[in-house]
Amino acid sequence: MRAAVYRGPGQIGLESRDVPRPGPTDVLVQVKACGLCGTDVHILEGQYPATPGIALGHEYAGVVVEVGAEVTGLTPGDAVAVDPNISCGACPACRRGDVHLCEHLQALGVTRDGGFAEMCRLPAAQAHRLPAGLGFEEWALVEPLSCCLHGLDLAGTRTGDRVAILGAGPIGLLMVQLARAAGAAFVLVADPVAAKRELALTLGADEAVDPTLRDVFQAFHQRAPGGADAVLECVGVPAVAAQALELPRRGGTVVWFGVSPPGATIPVEPYAVYRRELTIRAAFVNPHTFGRAVALLAQGRVQAAPLISHRFDLAGVAEAIATVKAGRAIKALVLPQES
Ligand SMILES: [Zn+2]
Ligand SMILES: [Zn+2]
Repeated sequence: MRAAVYRGPGQIGLESRDVPRPGPTDVLVQVKACGLCGTDVHILEGQYPATPGIALGHEYAGVVVEVGAEVTGLTPGDAVAVDPNISCGACPACRRGDVHLCEHLQALGVTRDGGFAEMCRLPAAQAHRLPAGLGFEEWALVEPLSCCLHGLDLAGTRTGDRVAILGAGPIGLLMVQLARAAGAAFVLVADPVAAKRELALTLGADEAVDPTLRDVFQAFHQRAPGGADAVLECVGVPAVAAQALELPRRGGTVVWFGVSPPGATIPVEPYAVYRRELTIRAAFVNPHTFGRAVALLAQGRVQAAPLISHRFDLAGVAEAIATVKAGRAIKALVLPQES
């Protein structure tokens, strides 16, 4: 089988490998679609740690083709989405339920072989069986949606809240839909790219602002005086993380969701945070949210198809990464069965 293998910063290449054999508690999945994530770009830039020699790709769905002897609940032919994050179950964080903060966290497509391959072996517990109704391309977005759900949970969004979302890439566009599904009364999105703002409006945003032309704070207060109950930073640029702190109402919450480069810092005025009693949070991956993400997509509360802008075969992974890096894509998918 073919796999797009990470060989170290700046290096990814196609390799021919033996199809892996599932162990007793594993399944073998034929990968139908795997999303390309900002994290994959960060890995190749040397900004995010990953294990050389593994197939990248952690946002994927496919069909079970073989199950290990001890696997129950999954059979060949099942359509599944894969939760890439594998916790140990035994460390202090796992024992208190914070599985995503596991001291021994492994991730398919980051520390173990992932979905940029024709086939992938994984622990059966990571495979979530899918209902009928959607295609694999859409199911490839379960993983990013599950991460967004964790972020919105941490924002504490309630019916009637007013929400600001900075960035209308795939994450911002999923957040728009989740905020709407959570009952937000007003959703403002800021992004410099017109096509992304248009899509945000189509998917439920009330206002979409170009931050290079218009003051986001002014724009928010014009439509929703007093400020945002929650601000979701979905860019991963330190200056935007700093700007996010200006937007919440007194007592509001900021969630830094985008991944800023390691080592980057921003100025924060502790007095202003104190006086406005702000909550500043970050959200890391997807603890216990995978099933809800499947349900939201299955019921059409969140749409994935409008976000998919580019498709590549396995040989095109490097080109896919360049396309995402250049900001030309919304969501790019790799389809490993195409050639
Ligand atoms: Zn990702
Ligand atoms: Zn653990």
